[in-house]
Amino acid sequence: MSIRQIAIYGKGGIGKSTTTQNLTAGLAEMGRKVMVVGCDPKADSTRLLLGGLAQKTTLDTLRETGENIELDRILKEGFKGIKCVESGGPEPGVGCAGRGIITSIGLLERLGAYRDDLDYVFYDVLGDVVCGGFAMPIREGKAKEIYIVASGEMMALYAANNISKGIQKFASKGGVRLGGIICNCRNVEREHEVLRAFVKELGTQLIYLVPRDNIVQQAEIRKKTVIDLNSESHQAQEYRNLAKAIEENANFVIPTPMSQEKLESILIEFGLMDLVEPYKI
Ligand code: ADP
Ligand code: MG
Repeated sequence: MSIRQIAIYGKGGIGKSTTTQNLTAGLAEMGRKVMVVGCDPKADSTRLLLGGLAQKTTLDTLRETGENIELDRILKEGFKGIKCVESGGPEPGVGCAGRGIITSIGLLERLGAYRDDLDYVFYDVLGDVVCGGFAMPIREGKAKEIYIVASGEMMALYAANNISKGIQKFASKGGVRLGGIICNCRNVEREHEVLRAFVKELGTQLIYLVPRDNIVQQAEIRKKTVIDLNSESHQAQEYRNLAKAIEENANFVIPTPMSQEKLESILIEFGLMDLVEPYKI
């Protein structure tokens, strides 16, 4: 079996890092071998898995020690043996924010991190649009599988639609496919309904609805995943279910992103946007 390489995209703050770490904890519990590669200059994609273990980013390590480094300097094992990497980024405002990803993936390849015994590699990627370095995991054919984290909020849906435009572009050239939308619920009105309408237009599926629960933040304060903090909790089971849904997923598509007008008509239909009459003179 080859490694399933999966990229997680979505608007900033939507819950990509939280969801990725919690669901990979679920996969690790099932005995899967997982690597998580943080591709956000914020470098907080693996802190819950590492439980506070100091992890330097790949770019910072390279800056300090130069090209000649060992794999264990940039890859640390966390919860149940999950391998954790943080790409990092340039100093704010300097250079391409996606450069960390490109450097990191190249180095991981060179140092033999993509071992045959891995079942999954997850890339936790920032960005409302898939461009430049942030497109790297899917552009270079590394990750063939993508999930978008969204909620029933206007900006999350805008971002998800934009990301789908990027996926469509790269899918036509390579083998990358959208595996579905993960709803990280914000408990806004008619949230499930608007997402169902949205995924239908995109030609994909709502692979899982993760409820909003305070235990997620309680775990975050203790630098743990929910499964690690309280494996009996309801939310821990939700993340296991999400892990299982991804493991069993067979629905992969090239998305059909919406025009601005179509997206806005859905937003208006579900009360997320006001119908503004054209200004009359
Ligand atoms: P992103 O990686 O997309 O920028 P994060 O994963 O950092 O977003 O999540 C942003 C915040 O939302 C975090 O403080 C996290 O604890 C919180 N959060 C994410 N998912 C949930 C959830 N299902 N229930 C409650 N809080 C959540
Ligand atoms: Mg994040």
